[in-house]
Amino acid sequence: MSKLNYSEIEKKWQEYWKENGVNTTSNDFENGKPKFYILDMFPYPSGEGLHVGHPKGYIATDVYSRMKKMQGFNVLHPMGWDAFGLPAEQFAIKNKINPNIATEKNVKRYKEQIEMLGLNYDWNREINTTDPKYYKWTQWMFKQMYKAGLAHESFEPINWCPSCKTGLANEDLDGNACERCGTQVEKKPLRQWVIKITDYADRLLEDLDKLNWEPHIKELQKNWIGKSEGSEIDFEIVDAEKNNLKENKLRIFTTRADTLFGCTFMAISYSLAKEWIENGWQASEEIQNFISEIEKEEKARTADFDMTKLEKKGIDTEIKAINPANGAEVPIYIANYILSDYGTGAIMAVPAHDERDYEFAKKYNLEIIEVIKSKEENTEELYIGEGVEINSGEFDGMNSEEARIKITEKVGGKIVSKYKLKDWVFARQRYWGEPFPIVFDENKKSYVVADKGLPVVLPNVENYEPTDTGESPLANIHDWVEVYGFINEEGEFESLDKSDERAKKFFRETNTMPQWAGSSWYYLRYIDPKNDEIFVNKDLEKKWSPVDFYVGGAEHATRHLIYARFWHKFLFDKGFVNYDEPFSKLQTVGLIMAEDGKKMSKRYGNVVNPDDVVKEFGADAMRTYEMFMGPFDKSVSWNTNSMAGVSRFLERVYSLTSKIDFSEEAKDDREVERVINETIKKVGEDIEDFKFNTAIAQLMICLNTFEDEVKKDKLISRKTFESFIKIISPFAVHISEEIWQNIFDYKTSIHLADWPSYDEAKMKKDEIEMSIQISGKFRGTFSIKPDSGDEEVLEVVKSTKVYKKYIGDNLEPKKIIVVKNRLINIVV
Ligand SMILES: [Zn+2]
Repeated sequence: MSKLNYSEIEKKWQEYWKENGVNTTSNDFENGKPKFYILDMFPYPSGEGLHVGHPKGYIATDVYSRMKKMQGFNVLHPMGWDAFGLPAEQFAIKNKINPNIATEKNVKRYKEQIEMLGLNYDWNREINTTDPKYYKWTQWMFKQMYKAGLAHESFEPINWCPSCKTGLANEDLDGNACERCGTQVEKKPLRQWVIKITDYADRLLEDLDKLNWEPHIKELQKNWIGKSEGSEIDFEIVDAEKNNLKENKLRIFTTRADTLFGCTFMAISYSLAKEWIENGWQASEEIQNFISEIEKEEKARTADFDMTKLEKKGIDTEIKAINPANGAEVPIYIANYILSDYGTGAIMAVPAHDERDYEFAKKYNLEIIEVIKSKEENTEELYIGEGVEINSGEFDGMNSEEARIKITEKVGGKIVSKYKLKDWVFARQRYWGEPFPIVFDENKKSYVVADKGLPVVLPNVENYEPTDTGESPLANIHDWVEVYGFINEEGEFESLDKSDERAKKFFRETNTMPQWAGSSWYYLRYIDPKNDEIFVNKDLEKKWSPVDFYVGGAEHATRHLIYARFWHKFLFDKGFVNYDEPFSKLQTVGLIMAEDGKKMSKRYGNVVNPDDVVKEFGADAMRTYEMFMGPFDKSVSWNTNSMAGVSRFLERVYSLTSKIDFSEEAKDDREVERVINETIKKVGEDIEDFKFNTAIAQLMICLNTFEDEVKKDKLISRKTFESFIKIISPFAVHISEEIWQNIFDYKTSIHLADWPSYDEAKMKKDEIEMSIQISGKFRGTFSIKPDSGDEEVLEVVKSTKVYKKYIGDNLEPKKIIVVKNRLINIVV
């Protein structure tokens, strides 16, 4: 057996591909090839480099894109770096190295590892979100949002991670904890930038229907957007003025306006009560103590706290409201189950038809009025389902669904949609991010920087450690923060020399953008990465977009994938891009776990390093093994023995090259012909469906067939073996090139060759197995030519031992049923 020198041939062919532009994608569509844009979620280059699990998705898109290219598509398969953000900054702080330098180093290491695997990215299109030439456009897009009224300053309390020392969006949380470090977040009032992503909530929801995404990812987005239809209803407060309340009504949102007649009290959050006190309400000491108590309890609760287990607590404000349905006066309670950040801070409580209200009413002896009667027999005092109205005046007898709308109308309420999706908290009080293209005048009024002032470049600083004050480290760099200039006719800031008489002093925004900014549009930049005029030429974008196939981690379902869809729709609305959705098809990747079944982590010491694997088994074996491990979207554990098995398989492929019949008249046996045609078909179809494991299994079956021939001292024809090498080439990229150019003596790359076609007629077996049933009972099998007619089948069956044994000459068949190519049933 001829042993392959992996590192030698890998290096040789990787250099050859580079020199000959084998992986270069052309924007020239004149050749009439259809386009195919396949995209990986670009990595965050951390300091630790890749472990074997990281490139699984990249290998898959590589295999897929190679097949597509061979099938005649113009394929775009780019790669870049999502390099801003907290981890890079924390790595830099910990290792006392500037984030710029750390990022550069990490990118270099990632790129080496990716190239080591022979992945076919077109590096001419490489992008990096931290490159000023790139983030110039991120800033420019933010500016468009600002001008469209979609981005604005806000002073609302936001999630604050005391450990990372930055504000966070809801998408950055895991329950109530910081997704990065696990620390419980606090609410902190902080000046920040907010993007009104909620303006797009309906479209983000409805347009999911257009997408060929895995259903569970769509479901996650749907729930994250969380649309609910309900009614907004105002309750008048009795003697509001006398109680020194600023407002004389309480607005509530309910999805069950049909139960309004059953509202016997109202409940408000402690935060609304505090607001009342700030505005002049003279609450008793007892009430004030109660407010502090439940505030403290709410803040101490951890993210995994089960709210259904909360013991209900409340206190009567002694203030009353009027139920607008029946004019009844109802007490207003401060209650601990109305959370501080809940909608309007107030609810109408209907104890007969809501579990929490029921529990509360029982505890405080509040009235319970039943207003919905179940259509089935129901003896419980609490009923939360739909039904028919009772005790509801003119609405008695009406269906609850209909009553919701009618009762809302009657009390002057409004049917509205509410969303769980919140506006996007877009500012971070950290160093390592895109600066905002914003300056303030002395009165703190904001202006966008004129285009010629872009990019606003992130300055180098001595100290990029975060502060506790909620100010970014940039705030201390006075040279950078203070700028001189004027506001031009468009209302945008243009800088001037300090000495210019028109120059006034302005101050730069010192927050930076979240990591999600640069990744919200990067896929567009690959199309036209060097354009200085615009982020992407619109004609070129029309040709390449949308992304046909997007592959990455499911953890991005409610983060990156929502932001990018929103961002894209905004660019579409402004006329910068041609389509309103960025990613047509989405496929998520299953993790590769460590050999011990745990997640690979430095902490467990179970990380498998791809450098070691490639050194021992070769890059092709690692690629092929990762695709063979199991279904692509499932988690699988690494197994070194199986890895070695795949390596042996590839060695067997190579050693078979000494058994090729190169003569013109070479012809294969029927069985070899049948298997190669079947394999071409199956491998093509399986790669198309991302079923790489079964594709490789079929390649193994095919190799076994070849080896069986060789054992019979026969050779394999050149034509057949070429087809086999072509269809294995997306997996074993180097070995196949070696065979193609060195053994078959071709002068161009196998990866530019045509994908082989198959002949369905040749895939038929000479004989197939059919089963015999006698009166419905399985009795045995027999061999016969495929597609034989009923007469022929019966003819063959009559000569079998089974027939002779069970029927013979004694019995007369009453009925004969033949299921073509499968079975014959003889009823006697
Ligand atoms: Zn944190």
